Amino acid sequence: MKAMIIGSGIAGLAAAITLRRMGWTVTVMERAAEFTEVGLGFIVLPNGLEALDHIGAGEYVRTNGTLIRKAIIRTPDGNLIKDDALENCLGIKRSSCIDALRKLVEPGIIQANAEFSHFEYDKEGNAIAAHFRDGRRAEADVFIGADGANSVIRKILFPSHPVGDTKIKELVGIADLPAMAKQLQGSLLKTQSLEEGLSLGILPCNDQQIIWYMQYDCLKNDVKDDSNQSKKEFAQRMMKGWPDPIGYILENTDYNKTFLWFTKDMAVLPAFHKNNIVLIGDAAHLVLPFTSQGVNSALQDAIILGRLLKDGRHIESFDDVFTTYHQVRKEILEEYHLFGNMMARRFLDPLHYKNEEVPIPLAK
Ligand SMILES: Cc1cc2nc3c(=O)[nH]c(=O)nc-3n(C[C@H](O)[C@H](O)[C@H](O)COP(=O)(O)OP(=O)(O)OC[C@H]3O[C@@H](n4cnc5c(N)ncnc54)[C@H](O)[C@@H]3O)c2cc1C
Repeated sequence: MKAMIIGSGIAGLAAAITLRRMGWTVTVMERAAEFTEVGLGFIVLPNGLEALDHIGAGEYVRTNGTLIRKAIIRTPDGNLIKDDALENCLGIKRSSCIDALRKLVEPGIIQANAEFSHFEYDKEGNAIAAHFRDGRRAEADVFIGADGANSVIRKILFPSHPVGDTKIKELVGIADLPAMAKQLQGSLLKTQSLEEGLSLGILPCNDQQIIWYMQYDCLKNDVKDDSNQSKKEFAQRMMKGWPDPIGYILENTDYNKTFLWFTKDMAVLPAFHKNNIVLIGDAAHLVLPFTSQGVNSALQDAIILGRLLKDGRHIESFDDVFTTYHQVRKEILEEYHLFGNMMARRFLDPLHYKNEEVPIPLAK
């Protein structure tokens, strides 16, 4: 059986490894021209780490990332709100996670410079081939859409499913600060305003570097333009007077690598497939940043889908397999969606929730 995976992000690579092990013939088609270091990093939660262990990438990510042992939340005047222990969590650069997975994909499986454009169907509505912008056409038995948050394949399958903008943006940066990475002692340190929608999270992603992410209410304040100088000025203005080590980290950030993330909200899809085309990762579902479940649920999707597809030989109906996949994933994804929305409401109007406990921004 032949599977074509479109997109070689975390979900696509994890699916390729899983399906190859099950005996499938796999091709991964990736839009990017070459595999350069893109993205900054994230926190891998226990479900993500378990998935990476299952795939055989656990040792690599543990060596190249940093264990995160606690989550500390404090106010901008330095008062401690929470100091909770975390287990089996890891800060890691996205590129290290991609490397860990790519090492497990045999040569020749991933094709770069392949931007998907559309499917070709038979009379029953099954896809028989995918077409790419450069004119390539490739056939498969199953097509897996792993083309990320702005998935073209999701739009083909579910053209009217709404994807909404939120009022929250996230500015993410990375700083080479080995002493600070050590000093953080495996902590996710979050400073959160209790008066307005504004917070800054800091975590080490290896023993040399720190990732920070500033979440803010973009209807109240926003960065002037996309220039590095504007992002630096904006971050420093918003965080003025906030406690150490925020000022030092913002001053020592490489703003060439900083990126602005427009968070999106989407209810869980009514299905993740149509006929023999199925979605995984961000293509299948979008989670708000407060959940930190983007990468983790992408890894789980790939493994669960792989288990259900097995070696493909005894499958009578892909429709049945993909319906089960949706049933298995739907409940937890709906929980992440609810948790993300609850956190977003609290974030935007903290005064309304001032008498309630502040939750840790990680969905488990
Ligand atoms: C460049 C980049 C940087 C990121 N950086 C961060 C970060 O620093 N922190 C964080 O928390 N999350 C980051 N993310 C998002 C994070 O990787 C995902 O939320 C999560 O890992 C789920 O992964 P995914 O494989 O579903 O999607 P993605 O990781 O987004 O991967 C999708 C892949 O599909 C490819 N693709 C898209 N459209 C097409 C097409 N038409 N044809 C062929 N290929 C296509 C993309 O090039 C990409 O390789 C980043 C994503 C990308 C693409």
